[in-house]
Amino acid sequence: MTTLKAVRGTRDLLPPETALWNRIETVARSVFARYNFGEIRTPVFEDTALFARGVGEETDIVSKEMYTWEDRARAQSEKPQSLTLRPENTAGVVRAYIEHNLGQTGELQKLYYIGPQFRRERPQKGRYRQFSQIGAEVIGPASAGSESPLRDAEVLEMLATLLDELGITGWTLHINSVGSAADRVRYNETLREALVPLAPKMCVDCQRRAVTNPLRVLDCKVPEDQPIIDTLPRIADSLDEASLAHFAAVTAALDAAGVPYTRNHRLVRGLDYYTRTTFEFTHGGLGAQNALLGGGRYDGLSEAIGGPKAPGIGFAMGEDRLVLTLQALEAAAPPRADAYVAPLGESLNPAALALARELRRAGLTVELGEGGFRLKKSFDAADKTARRIVILGEDELQSGILTVKDFATSTQTKVPRAELAAFLAAPAEGKGHK
Ligand code: AMP
Repeated sequence: MTTLKAVRGTRDLLPPETALWNRIETVARSVFARYNFGEIRTPVFEDTALFARGVGEETDIVSKEMYTWEDRARAQSEKPQSLTLRPENTAGVVRAYIEHNLGQTGELQKLYYIGPQFRRERPQKGRYRQFSQIGAEVIGPASAGSESPLRDAEVLEMLATLLDELGITGWTLHINSVGSAADRVRYNETLREALVPLAPKMCVDCQRRAVTNPLRVLDCKVPEDQPIIDTLPRIADSLDEASLAHFAAVTAALDAAGVPYTRNHRLVRGLDYYTRTTFEFTHGGLGAQNALLGGGRYDGLSEAIGGPKAPGIGFAMGEDRLVLTLQALEAAAPPRADAYVAPLGESLNPAALALARELRRAGLTVELGEGGFRLKKSFDAADKTARRIVILGEDELQSGILTVKDFATSTQTKVPRAELAAFLAAPAEGKGHK
């Protein structure tokens, strides 16, 4: 008998990796809670029409990547219903917003989700057929301020905070504006004309997109097409005054908050419902699938699926890719304890336990050494496990001034006991240390 295996593009998550998944979800929930988001859980499958209308028939997702089937009819008179495993969660959240009249509160709805999504893509590292997204949406009536550029900037600032708290360093935020629906129609036409003489020299997909949905040409990854795409008109030149002002207000708020970003004129994103701000966070450690997350504003989505006007902005992070990035970062620089407390002599062991207790209760990760060790052995053990060593001898105990050595910078500092926890909590400098 052939052995049964997990289906191509799906995989089992086993310990110890599952601990990392749980940590990511815990940090995400804690950040979302501080920004006053609540959790939503929508069904894993929906009526196919939701994605056809909400994501767009022309997108790769809807046109070739969905897991769709005809559900058996219950009665002979009933037509079988076409159902689809959700390929993304924004359409489901907006459907729920409409179905439960969440707009009636007059307030902004701030909702986050964590869960599996399904796309029949070609599997490779960082790209799976079942993958998990952590996402959030801010949606509501215009009277609640849902169209404000401040909402866009706040979501981006929250993402920068979330990545920082996860310990993901070295990300890049790319932003762009695809303008209003009218701007996009205008730009699509400009592109269509510009592509007439160029498309025959491009890949087959681009030849098709040049006719059906010229904007999608900007997503093309085929290397030979890139020099041609670089010569195409930019969407920035097709934006009306209101869209330009909106974008300028988003970047001004990001500047004020100190969130770094780069303008990427080609960022139009794979989903049809985006308007105005679009964004992506990338990470160099991910290889070809370098997008950690993507999102944007979707002012017309609710109406596209039969709801009231409800502008919104949201994003989805690839949880699988957060895991890959953290694994790579941790392999390069294993996490270390904040401090190693080294008593100088066995008689100082009890005082060292008291000091370690003080620091651990202040929230620090502390290794406790052993006074019976020679000093060199204490230093070697500390250098393997912690960022700094705190030396506790008879003098230190009496004076209340401790000697701290930082392994990354090789600097030695005298720190009063009352300030020690705050001193140790500050990030260490130098490579290879947390
Ligand atoms: P999208 O819903 O296409 O905007 O994607 C948002 C994020 O989900 C991307 O930036 C990826 O991090 C992640 N993602 C999308 N498709 C996949 C996939 N097939 N496998 C793993 N992660 C994915």
